[in-house]
Amino acid sequence: MTISLDLTDEAGRAAADKLRSPKTQKRSLVGMDRQELSDAMREIGVPEKQLRMRVSQIWHWLYVRGVSDFSAMRNISGELREKLAENCDISRPKILEEQISDDGTRKWLFQFQSGGAGKPVEIETVYIPEEGRGTLCISSQVGCTLTCTFCHTGTQKLVRNLTSGEVLAQLLVARDRLGDFPNADTPQGAIVPAEGRKVSNIVMMGMGEPLYNFDNVKQALLIASDNEGLSLSKRRITLSTSGVVPFIPRTGDEIGVMLAISLHAVRDDLRDELVPINKKYPIAELLDACRNYPGANNAKRITFEYVMLKGINDTLEDAKELVQLLKGIPAKINLIPFNPWPGSNYECSNWETIKRFSEFINDNGYASPIRTPRGQDILAACGQLKSESERLKKTDRLALEAMMIAGHGE
Ligand code: SAH
Ligand code: SF4
Repeated sequence: MTISLDLTDEAGRAAADKLRSPKTQKRSLVGMDRQELSDAMREIGVPEKQLRMRVSQIWHWLYVRGVSDFSAMRNISGELREKLAENCDISRPKILEEQISDDGTRKWLFQFQSGGAGKPVEIETVYIPEEGRGTLCISSQVGCTLTCTFCHTGTQKLVRNLTSGEVLAQLLVARDRLGDFPNADTPQGAIVPAEGRKVSNIVMMGMGEPLYNFDNVKQALLIASDNEGLSLSKRRITLSTSGVVPFIPRTGDEIGVMLAISLHAVRDDLRDELVPINKKYPIAELLDACRNYPGANNAKRITFEYVMLKGINDTLEDAKELVQLLKGIPAKINLIPFNPWPGSNYECSNWETIKRFSEFINDNGYASPIRTPRGQDILAACGQLKSESERLKKTDRLALEAMMIAGHGE
């Protein structure tokens, strides 16, 4: 069963209104780094001497307290709060839909304004609760320029990159909805623990290729991991790439988060087909970049994602080659059962095959967990995300449900 946020009743509408960002040309402060914030303060007339203090106050309210209204910033004078409200925006994006899966997975459909004459865009974000942790799967682009053949997002043309504020807003709203920010009546100086939160981990594994939107993703992740703000440990942030080789060393040097590589095939001919960016950056180059990934070691392994496609990449011969290829790289291999979507041309390998594949890799020295598909009933699993421009028709939904039921019978 799927539960949706009911926007037809009054409480639902009030909740939605609170989260709705006005159609405004005001500058959004969310996602700015300290320098940009300081420049924005200067522009609205904050004296030079006060800039540092104001930036630090606003940073605290935005990222420790999670406020989305200037009136809540109690240590800022009424006059300045008014000026801020006239010129700047810190409101949340509009939530068009919130779905909660039977397994507790949540999926949000967000709408972001595009500025100027640009149309509003929509993206999806997924929250996956597990024993001992909660992972937020964040999108970096609306659509994707790449066309991996097994991925639903890959069938949606790139509409635009998300800004750093839009990448970050996905985390802020998830924390609002999950009650991760302190209450409004928490005293101003209260210590706000970074442990024990609902969102303990972030993965850049939603819609889009994060390394094709490097600057904005970098800025958002540096803010998410800033110790005076959201304070997420970089070890709990994973960026997944299909293999944009030139940006891999920069990811390690400039962002310093964990790396995941969507490998999916062990030979170039097959990878060219499944992950077409391979034609530009073939497997050997990709693995060289991984071998040299700044900061990778046995305690900070690189994750290799491998989607299990029946009859395509799932033999023991493939597993053997995989182990050979990864020699010398501190790695772990995540096996992802293929998640079907309407119109997809693949089937998921059967359970026995996946188990054998995993055991072989384990026996050869690499951890190789099988990722449990989560939130399939709300199309929230890996590779199932795709937004408005081509939402599923009802007939497609029914077809998909039938596919799921057939899949579970295996
Ligand atoms: N663009 C980035 C991150 C988003 S995709 C990348 O490709 O890495 C996140 C993960 O889901 C990737 O490993 C991707 O290959 C995988 N994926 C895509 N479609 C899938 C599907 N239908 N079933 C299972 N995994 C899929
Ligand atoms: Fe884009 Fe990643 Fe999907 Fe490939 S797997 S189409 S890179 S989102």
